[in-house]
Amino acid sequence: TQATFENIKATDPKIDAFLHLNEDQALAQAAALDQAGISDDQPLAGIPLALKDNLVTKDEPTTAASKMLENFTPVYDATVVSKLADAKMVPVGKTNLDEFAMGGSTENSAFKTTKNAWDQTKVPGGSSGGSAAAVAAGMVPAALGTDTGGSIRQPASFNGIVGMKPTYGRVSRWGLIAFGSSFDAIGPMTRSVKDNAMLLSAIAGHDDHDLTSSDKAVPNFAADLTAATSVKGMHIGLPKEFLADGINDDVKQAILAAADTYRKLGATVDEVSLPHNKYGVAAYYIIASSEASSNLQRFDGIRYGYRAKDVKNLEDVYVKSRSEGFGAEVKRRIMLGTFSLSAGFYDAYFLKAAKVRTVILNDFKAILKDHDFIMGPVAPTPAFNIGAEISDPLTMYMNDILTIPVNLAGLPGLSLPAGFSNGLPVGMQLIGRPFDESTLYKAGYAFE
Ligand code: GLN
Repeated sequence: TQATFENIKATDPKIDAFLHLNEDQALAQAAALDQAGISDDQPLAGIPLALKDNLVTKDEPTTAASKMLENFTPVYDATVVSKLADAKMVPVGKTNLDEFAMGGSTENSAFKTTKNAWDQTKVPGGSSGGSAAAVAAGMVPAALGTDTGGSIRQPASFNGIVGMKPTYGRVSRWGLIAFGSSFDAIGPMTRSVKDNAMLLSAIAGHDDHDLTSSDKAVPNFAADLTAATSVKGMHIGLPKEFLADGINDDVKQAILAAADTYRKLGATVDEVSLPHNKYGVAAYYIIASSEASSNLQRFDGIRYGYRAKDVKNLEDVYVKSRSEGFGAEVKRRIMLGTFSLSAGFYDAYFLKAAKVRTVILNDFKAILKDHDFIMGPVAPTPAFNIGAEISDPLTMYMNDILTIPVNLAGLPGLSLPAGFSNGLPVGMQLIGRPFDESTLYKAGYAFE
C-alpha cells in the first residue's frame, strides 16, 4: 500500500486520475491486515484499488466530479464498498469522472481533465476515465467504474485495459450516485481478464437495499479460467452494423483479426444483424436524460451539497444553487429529460424511446438464441485529442453507438484490448446473455 501511494504521487501529476487519496485510512487498514494475517480464502486481501468518485464512501469525500458535491462527505458506504471491505481489499482513493458520469471523455469534470495513460494529449475516455487511466498507468491494479451507456467499456478500450459492465441487476447500485437508474451498472476495471473476474465475484450479489439487484447465485467467475479454457464449439455473432461506415479502419481490422483468432481456436463466427442499433443513441439520450432529470431533483441547495449565497427567497435558493452548482452538460441533460417527460411530449419522446428499447432488446435476443455471445468493437475510434469533441455534444454522444444498445438491453458487456492504431489501444467488446458473464470471461481469457 505504501508503494502504491509512492507510485501514485510520482505518476499522477501527469495523468490527473485521482480526485482524492485516503492515505491515512488505507495505510492503517493495511497495517491492521499485516497484524491479523491473511487467510487463503481471501485472495483479494491487501490488494489496493481505486473507486470512481460517484460511489459513496463513509467519511471520505465523494463529489461525482461536481461542484454541487465539492464539500460532501457521505455517512455510509456503497454496498460495493462494503463488499470490498469484506474481501479485505484496500481502497486508496477516488478517481475523476465526467460530472455525474455524464460524458465520454472525463472533460466534463468540474475539477480537472484526466489524460490518457498512453498519450497525454488524448482523452482517457469516460465517464470512468480516472479509473481507466489509473489502472492503465500502473498506479493501481484495479478500479471500480460505472457504466450507464459505455462508461466502463469505452475508457477501458481507450486505455488498453479490461472492463466489465455486468448484467443490469448483477451488482447492487446502492450508494452509487444515480444517473440513469434503469441502466446504471457498477463493474471492475483491471489489467487482466482473470483479475476482472475475481473482482466481479467479490462485488456482485443480491442486496436488500437495491430491489433491482438479482438474487441469482454469483459464480466464482475466475475458477473456470484455466489454461484449458476454450471457446471451441462456441457460436459467435458479429453484427454487420458493428463494422459499418463510420467505424475507423484500424478498429475494423482489429475486430476482423480477433474473429480469425476465435475461428482458429475452434469457434464459428457468423455475420448477424442488429437492424435497430442505429436508433440506440437517440432512445438512450431520451430515457437516460429523463431518469437523470428526476434523479438530480434532490440537489436543491437545501438538503446537502452546494448552496448559493446572496439569495432572496426559497425559489432563489433552488435556482441559484442549481445554476451555479451544475455544469453545462448536466444542465443539458436536465433540460432534455424534463422536456421529454413533460405533458404533451411524453408520448412522442419518452414512450417512443421506451418502445425502441424493447425492439433493440429483441434484436439481441434473436441473435443470442443461437449464439453464445456477440463480438464487435467498443468504440468507433481510438482515443481522440483532448478538446476535440467537447464543444460538440452530438459527436461526443455518437462515441457510444456500440455500447449504448447493450445498456438498453441490460446485457453484460466485456471490453478487452484487441490491437493498436497509431500507438493507441483498440478495444473489443463481447456481449453476452443476461447473467452469463461467465462465457464472456472464458472467451476473453481464451483471446488474451
Ligand atoms: N457517454 C454516455 C453519456 O454521456 C455514457 C455515460 C455513462 O455510461 N455513464 O451518457
